[in-house]
Amino acid sequence: MKKIAILGSTGSIGTQTLQVVDEQKDIQVTALAAGSNIKLLEEQIRRYHPSLVCVWDEKKAGELKVRVADLAVRVTSGLEGLMEVASEPQAEIVVTAVVGMIGIRPTIAAMEAGKDIALANKETLVTAGHIIMPLAREKGVRILPVDSEHSAIFQCLNGEPGRAAHKILLTASGGPFRGWTRQQLAGVRLEDALKHPNWSMGRKITIDSSTMVNKGLEVMEARWLFDVSMDQVQVVVQPQSVIHSMVEFEDGAVMAQLGTPDMKLPIQYALYYPQRRYLSGERLDFAKLGSITFEDPDPEVFRGLKLAYDAGRTGGSLPTVYNAANEYAVGRFLNREISYLTIVEMIEAAMEQHKVTGNPSVEQILEAERETYEFIESRWQIAEHSCSNTFIRSHCSDS
Ligand code: NDP
Ligand code: MG
Repeated sequence: MKKIAILGSTGSIGTQTLQVVDEQKDIQVTALAAGSNIKLLEEQIRRYHPSLVCVWDEKKAGELKVRVADLAVRVTSGLEGLMEVASEPQAEIVVTAVVGMIGIRPTIAAMEAGKDIALANKETLVTAGHIIMPLAREKGVRILPVDSEHSAIFQCLNGEPGRAAHKILLTASGGPFRGWTRQQLAGVRLEDALKHPNWSMGRKITIDSSTMVNKGLEVMEARWLFDVSMDQVQVVVQPQSVIHSMVEFEDGAVMAQLGTPDMKLPIQYALYYPQRRYLSGERLDFAKLGSITFEDPDPEVFRGLKLAYDAGRTGGSLPTVYNAANEYAVGRFLNREISYLTIVEMIEAAMEQHKVTGNPSVEQILEAERETYEFIESRWQIAEHSCSNTFIRSHCSDS
């Protein structure tokens, strides 16, 4: 039996991880964590029998305790609880599927406890990659990518010597606004941005995909995972989402990983690496597909992508500011408090005013996050939100 813990078990990646558990039958779930959805978490506890769970929201954790009083499960809450779930002694792999920078501390806690990480939570690598990657080497743990593009790159690099990639071709669907003008983007409503053409995902990453900030975060994620420079990562728009990414080698050979858009494949690959297992689901039918097309992303329309390159090239605390400003702005957009174009305006303004700290510690990263929120709040005169400091704020009024 493989033993796993899941941080963010009630979300899009979390529930699909549990679908893989259902299908494979030789994975034991030892610990789970969620933000506030105790209804679904209770169902998961009754089905998978973890010995430890965490609900971020303390009041909801109290309610859940009463609801599962008949079971042998310990219910914890808050950051301490999340860190406990991350380092729960039985688990060998921790799936990090929480959304946002809240993932940094639990990911570090899991690695300190010697766990391999199946990493979906890209925000952790974007902001703290310089801490996470050396720590993984020091502790002898593996960072197994769950993000579909990074799983594809990981698969293309299989059997190649270290640092073999000459260039990474990171594919992007282009999102729902591919081919639009900036002027058209001004009128985008929440409903429009939540409609992704090919993937069904959590709300935050769906908005990030529409702005292509997700791709910007992924360029930085790739830089850390595969030890390349920002300039070795090129974004290629491939609207059918069939090629999940490619690697170009020194001799000009290009390897690609293809498949139908289904996150269960990269999740399962991370959990069983280097083994491959049967996975049910649709297969690619090339004749039906007809063609696969490619284009460059429009830098004028998707300014968030260019800003990610600026942040990643400068490094230090600037990627944190890029990410924190985006988390803040997307939370506000999901609450219908700001317009669509304001998301990228907030990122740009926050980056412009920031004084970069090189090689920031976790505390300095979290401080840069806090300062970014404060800057945006004062600049846009937004009242401080009752939900503090993590992406959890978006749970205040949505869903
Ligand atoms: P969702 O919003 O669907 O799920 C987020 C999960 O995290 C939920 O279980 C939520 O709980 C939980 N959560 C949120 N805040 C906290 C907290 N403070 N403490 C504990 N749990 C918390 O997100 P996704 O699954 O879409 O994304 C998760 C991560 O994976 C993101 O970093 C995203 O970028 C990445 N990713 C996602 C992909 C996808 O296809 N969805 C693809 C590639 C990467 P609750 O339900 O109670 O709110
Ligand atoms: Mg992705």
